[in-house]
Amino acid sequence: MTSEIRIGILAIQGDYEAHAKMLDRLGVKWTYVRQSADLEGLAGIILPGGESTTHVKVLREEGLWDALQRFHSRGGAFFGTCAGAIVLAREVHNPAQASLGFLNVSILRNGYGRQLASDVHEGKSKLGDEPMEMVFIRAPIIESVGEGVEVLAKDAAHPVLVQQGRSLAATFHPELTNDLTVHRHFVAMVRHKGQKPPSDEIPDEAASPARIIH
Ligand code: GLN
Repeated sequence: MTSEIRIGILAIQGDYEAHAKMLDRLGVKWTYVRQSADLEGLAGIILPGGESTTHVKVLREEGLWDALQRFHSRGGAFFGTCAGAIVLAREVHNPAQASLGFLNVSILRNGYGRQLASDVHEGKSKLGDEPMEMVFIRAPIIESVGEGVEVLAKDAAHPVLVQQGRSLAATFHPELTNDLTVHRHFVAMVRHKGQKPPSDEIPDEAASPARIIH
């Protein structure tokens, strides 16, 4: 049974449009979130990549910081990619900055340094048998994960896709590939309110070659 859900996409700055295209492809309703009132009627929200410092500043200026805390307490699901993962973390380094803290991880901004600022890797995840294309752009490194956090994918020694209850974060950008796996997982999380969905409810899609948008 699929109930009608709507997912918000924080649209302050960054690659929010790429997330909208992924949700369109999955046939899921979405709305851009720019102020607290936009959270009305949503079951989950995507915090996109971009510049986390800017996102934190604008979230605070718009009153969205507190609104997102309330949304979380009400059972709203969160999916952060790259800068969004930083905003969701419990602790942020390089430099330290405020974060929502819904994911019990400590995270290092721009963790790969300037030389490896952007890179594309392939890696396995717990979400399927096919390796996943992982696009890293000035990505953070998850330094440690605390209690309650499940690591769904690693790259080298580092967790790159993690979930805690109804909060999911990737340090890479699945929205910049053709692979719908991570977004489909998030939609299933939203529908099941953070419980692991039975795998037969996640529709199978033939693996398609990934394409980088930029
Ligand atoms: N380096 C950015 C930050 O610290 C994140 C980069 C990204 O989202 N692609 O916020």
